Amino acid sequence: MSEEILKVDGVRLNFYTYEGVVQALDGVELNLRKGETLGVVGETGCGKSVSGLSILNLIPPPGRIEGGRVLFERRGRELELLTEREAIMRKVRGRDISMVFQDPRSALNPVYTAGNQIVEVLLHHRAVDLIQRVIEQLDRRIADSKETESEKAVKGGKKTAKKGAGFLTKFYRNSLQRLLDNPKSRRMKIVRRIPILNGYRKMVKKEAKKEAVEILRIMRIPDPERVVDMYPHELSGGMAQRVVIAMGLACNPEILIADEPTTNLDVTVQLQILQLIKELKEHFSSSIIYITHDMGVVAELCDRVAVMYAGTVVEISEVVELFRNPLHPYTRALLESIPRPGHPFKSIEGTVPSLINPPKGCRFNDRCPYAMEVCHTVKPKIVEVKKDHFVECFLHE
Ligand code: SF4
Repeated sequence: MSEEILKVDGVRLNFYTYEGVVQALDGVELNLRKGETLGVVGETGCGKSVSGLSILNLIPPPGRIEGGRVLFERRGRELELLTEREAIMRKVRGRDISMVFQDPRSALNPVYTAGNQIVEVLLHHRAVDLIQRVIEQLDRRIADSKETESEKAVKGGKKTAKKGAGFLTKFYRNSLQRLLDNPKSRRMKIVRRIPILNGYRKMVKKEAKKEAVEILRIMRIPDPERVVDMYPHELSGGMAQRVVIAMGLACNPEILIADEPTTNLDVTVQLQILQLIKELKEHFSSSIIYITHDMGVVAELCDRVAVMYAGTVVEISEVVELFRNPLHPYTRALLESIPRPGHPFKSIEGTVPSLINPPKGCRFNDRCPYAMEVCHTVKPKIVEVKKDHFVECFLHE
């Protein structure tokens, strides 16, 4: 996959409802390159969010992915995410690819503090890293205590200020090492149940909380030591969104799927979050799929953009090229409908078709001023018209 890190290849998704089969995705084609931000734009209900969920194979019933592939390059190995075992997918979700959902209030659990929710992600995906850090701390404590012991010996047994590492410190250190060597150790399962002996777990949690504070600081949340212990209802909209982004980035994923993370925020906070996402992309070197219906956000944030209509990607190109030279009639209409001061307000004629009975051929045919006979019978193929500029329309085939 050259510099591509993710490829969505012809994904088809149906929802089996009482009203009929909703053909939500009709052969979606997308690719994401290392380190880029790919915008996915389109009207409400065009399949942007379900495309993100399909990548993670998280489509809830009655939805069913009926075809296509999602290829992901994971540490030099290519995975097909739609057919991969659930155990592997649980590692991929959050650790390699994570998703930030639209509404922070519903994404956060109201009965846990912000810190607890970040800690949970860290303990699930970065336990080894945290355990190693605690082992290093305990090693330092043990080494210090040895020094103190020898100082004591030199001073003729006189008591010194430093307290030596006791039995428990050494026991915790060895327990953590045993956990690293064999996480399923029987002995450790027993030790875990004995309160006095399982203090090492508290130490790992404490380390995870420290890391959570650090992540909140990177998110530019003021006073992160206080916010880490706050419940979601105590946070403002902007802060809650930052916490959700923090959870998404806690494990330094290779890909972040951000599903309209600024939709419910006012413009000033929206700008701050966009700025933050830009900086975080550099800091964590992640690739981002940014789902939005706002062309302004695309222009501000993205390197390339994919335009979706009624469950298909109709055009994909670099952002500047798309704004200068939109090829698909839907993209042109979408750009023309951006409100401009002094210009009459324009909207796209007609309505989005029902996906239970979508139009045959090109799904845009009943709203397209250029529709030809063939558009009503045959689905156009996506073709590369210029370098890196793909479009799905008979006008350019
Ligand atoms: Fe219009 Fe036909 Fe192109 Fe569809 S394929 S956008 S209907 S011209």
